[in-house]
Amino acid sequence: MTTVGIVGWRGMVGSVLLERMRAENDFQHFEPVLFSTSQAGTPGPELNGKTEPLRDANDLKALGEMDMIVSCQGGDYTKEVHGALRKAGYKGLWIDAASSLRMEENAVIILDPVNRKVIDRALESGVRDFIGGNCTVSLMLMGIHSLFDNGWVEWISASTYQAASGAGAKNMRELVAQMGAIASVPAARSASSAILDLDREVASRMRNPEFPTSEFGAPLAGSLIPWIDRGVDAGQTREEWKGHVETNKILGLPREVPVDGVCVRIGAMRSHSQALTIKLTRDVPLAEIESAISGSNPWVDFVPNDKAETLRRLSPAACSGTLTVPVGRVRKMKLGPEYLSLFTVGDQLLWGAAEPLRRMVLIALGKL
Ligand code: NAP
Repeated sequence: MTTVGIVGWRGMVGSVLLERMRAENDFQHFEPVLFSTSQAGTPGPELNGKTEPLRDANDLKALGEMDMIVSCQGGDYTKEVHGALRKAGYKGLWIDAASSLRMEENAVIILDPVNRKVIDRALESGVRDFIGGNCTVSLMLMGIHSLFDNGWVEWISASTYQAASGAGAKNMRELVAQMGAIASVPAARSASSAILDLDREVASRMRNPEFPTSEFGAPLAGSLIPWIDRGVDAGQTREEWKGHVETNKILGLPREVPVDGVCVRIGAMRSHSQALTIKLTRDVPLAEIESAISGSNPWVDFVPNDKAETLRRLSPAACSGTLTVPVGRVRKMKLGPEYLSLFTVGDQLLWGAAEPLRRMVLIALGKL
């Protein structure tokens, strides 16, 4: 049976990956082998009815025995291990959630509902590195790839609202710790306390050096952080830079489509949201746009632009833990008939991370 080594299964993306693989009964198609960088030798979780000791994720020989390797461990690990393993002659598939290899010439960014043909061609031509896209980019394309397919997009400006879990397991815990620290101020415990006392106590707690900020570097609960990842050229953050380069690489369009925006971390636990301003290549009627988005793939949920449905369906609370990608608030803007505004949300741990990886394993095995 094909062996698939899984590295990083303890983290946010890896935990969701294992959960999805179990839910879809993927392990009937391959033998999973779990690796860890920190816990080699200790018993792993039960998989396929068996509990095996964890293998050492830095042991190139053990990794080299796998037919495929799926890594959700992070970019530093990929940089350390992938090159060395290939140098040692490893010919299996390397499927990765980290960004390190995404823009390499011989790597394909995987999002099969959007670029299945690119993936199939790459497999046929012997490509062996298949890398999940940036979560926000993947979710944007899941929501609106039909607009690109129709050649309607001239450029996109995105304002993102990205969840704490996008930064990993430790950050998710820190957000909850921050929420707890805020909720425990004395004025929060009494409904009759003066509202300005509550406001002052919360602000003071958030600015207190004891407030837990070691992961995010700033308060997120009750606030936001308009900076994700490191800075790159021209004032962009790397997260903002990825919007343009990855969108264009995934779609492989004949003409480059500019994508830019502002990426902001907010206090949602899970699921990234984004407001998109799209300059259309012509004045496409709204009904045509709505119909293209609704019919684009089985996971899009087109939400009518009204308050009740928006509150019910278009939020992280509504779609976290599901594969549904709601797209709503779709309207033409006052800027002119070629300017479209919309809002979309999606669970970044599913379509933005784990789901394309597990589907890639199945595609490579001829099971999807
Ligand atoms: P993460 O939660 O920080 O986990 C990464 C690794 O950290 C784990 O596999 C584990 O490795 C180690 N770890 C140390 N302390 C831990 C703890 N208390 N709980 C769990 N794991 C702990 O990272 P991630 O968010 O899954 O991201 C992994 C990669 O996917 C990154 O390259 C990231 O950029 C990318 N990605 C993330 C998302 C997202 O939404 N989070 C989306 C798309 C792509 P050992 O078992 O070896 O110690």
